[in-house]
Amino acid sequence: MELTDAQFERYARHLILEEVGDEGQEALLASKVLCVGAGGLGSPVLMYLAAAGIGTIGIIDDDEVDLSNLQRQIVHATASVGLPKAISAAETLARINPTITVVPYQTRLTPENVEALFAEYDLIVDGTDNFATRYLINDAAYLAGKTVVSGALLRFEGQLTTFRGGVAGHQGEPCYRCLFRNPPPPNTVPRCEEAGILGAVAGVIGTLQATEVLKELMGLGDTMSGNLLVFDGMGMTFRKIRYKRSASCPLCGDAPTITAVGAVGPV
Ligand SMILES: [Zn+2]
Repeated sequence: MELTDAQFERYARHLILEEVGDEGQEALLASKVLCVGAGGLGSPVLMYLAAAGIGTIGIIDDDEVDLSNLQRQIVHATASVGLPKAISAAETLARINPTITVVPYQTRLTPENVEALFAEYDLIVDGTDNFATRYLINDAAYLAGKTVVSGALLRFEGQLTTFRGGVAGHQGEPCYRCLFRNPPPPNTVPRCEEAGILGAVAGVIGTLQATEVLKELMGLGDTMSGNLLVFDGMGMTFRKIRYKRSASCPLCGDAPTITAVGAVGPV
């Protein structure tokens, strides 16, 4: 693939980075990324990935834009209240970069549709706010051999990590279940809508997720696979905690019991 004159201009600040160059930009233009959730995390992820020239971006979200979302979900605008989030986000991305392909899915990710959806993409971004979907993404991506860049938020804090133990060449790297074996019992961990979230904290973690997506797609720098980044916005500190594959993990351990999507364990 040869870059056009317009692409040389649009991506000039990438191309001048010797670690990126034409080769890196062409890799981004050839990449397909699916973002699960067009909310607080998905907003900066989607906007930066579109701006960066990811060739195909899928957006899956079954929700509609609500006035109370706008405090942090910056991909949506006041005029989009009431619109499906997948459509509203796709319209914003088209304004940022009309030269890429954006595919909105106005549906919920389920054990029934996850395999067909993931098959269309190289990398999955987890921008969800519920544990059932988080475990579904982890399990389905591992079984399909896809990388996941995962983010989570609560109040003034955020977390980020990457899973790619199912990807050829990365076997032995841990998954979400190695970190947190099973989902917490329902209603024991509050969601943003109950506990609150400082809007810009979503921007911090989502922007870091976008950074890791670009690095994973170009094979640059240190991976966050096997590393959990914990951001505390109050103390303004970042901690990086290493974790390993668990031999007893039901998904990626030595004797896995989760061998198909749908057997997602207690959710
Ligand atoms: Zn595991």
